[in-house]
Amino acid sequence: MRDYFAEEADAAAGVPARPIVRCVPGQTAIVTGANSGIGRAVAVALGQAGANVVVNYVAREADAAAVVDEIRSAGSQAIAVHADVSSEADVQAMFARAVEIFGAVDILINNAGLQKDAPLAEMTVAAWDLVINVNLKGQFLCAREAVRTFRRQGVRHNVSRAAGKIICMSSVHDVIPWAGHVNYAASKGGVAMMMKSIAQEVAPDGIRVNSLSPGAIRTPINTEAWNTPDAYKALMRLVPYRRIGEPMDIGRVAVWLASDDADYITGATIYVDGGMTLYPGFESGG
Ligand code: NAD
Repeated sequence: MRDYFAEEADAAAGVPARPIVRCVPGQTAIVTGANSGIGRAVAVALGQAGANVVVNYVAREADAAAVVDEIRSAGSQAIAVHADVSSEADVQAMFARAVEIFGAVDILINNAGLQKDAPLAEMTVAAWDLVINVNLKGQFLCAREAVRTFRRQGVRHNVSRAAGKIICMSSVHDVIPWAGHVNYAASKGGVAMMMKSIAQEVAPDGIRVNSLSPGAIRTPINTEAWNTPDAYKALMRLVPYRRIGEPMDIGRVAVWLASDDADYITGATIYVDGGMTLYPGFESGG
């Protein structure tokens, strides 16, 4: 079995953090839900890669301010912007603010998301609506605003070959069914096909649209799945690579996917999951 948490094991062994290449300088990224977990890591990674970053939050303003400070200390510009991604007016105001401050938007990280779990027979309409409104409608509203902005701007040849990039944070549950979480799995299945349809529609404009589908990443959304040795051991039965994912595992891939190194990729879903989608139940021959 691998070490409990890879980043902590590296730090204990004195392994230095790997630097991120400054591959998106002069570009502006909006990262939704950027004051926690995966969004925070992606925002910091994009800042380290040279982007101006809009750190979106809906609650816990102090956490957003801390992310802004971290990005500024890496030498990039950042602002915190409050917006509920499920509100059309909030999303439009957030894009307007980004353009007002930074002059353009080049990258959208559609990350904000939540769970409200219940067995199907007990699931309320409120729990269904909340998850679909944030995870699916929220990504639609932000993607629509991003496409409008990218089309207005056209290709900014001095910063990127593309007119804009959208990365949707999906989940392994866009292909793995998840009993007790039908609202969440339905939202991510929806993201998968929404992403591909938008990608097909806007590719002729030079806009790239892709998804990242994380497996089990160590964030507050799933604490009970990793915060005790027993829970961690059970989780590892689902992860052939035998370690939990760290938020920066997603941050690094997001930076690469947003950069021109990935310029010919659109409409793709990249599973960043340590093999969780490889049917781990068949590991020993089935
Ligand atoms: P998290 O709870 O740490 O972060 C979620 C963020 O979304 C928080 O900042 C939260 O405030 C924000 N948010 C929630 N509702 C919002 C709204 N209406 N408007 C704006 N922001 C809102 O969880 P995380 O694990 O970092 O999740 C980030 C994304 O990654 C989610 O879309 C989640 O579904 C996805 N994901 C996570 C995992 C994992 O294992 N952690 C796996 C697969 C997919």
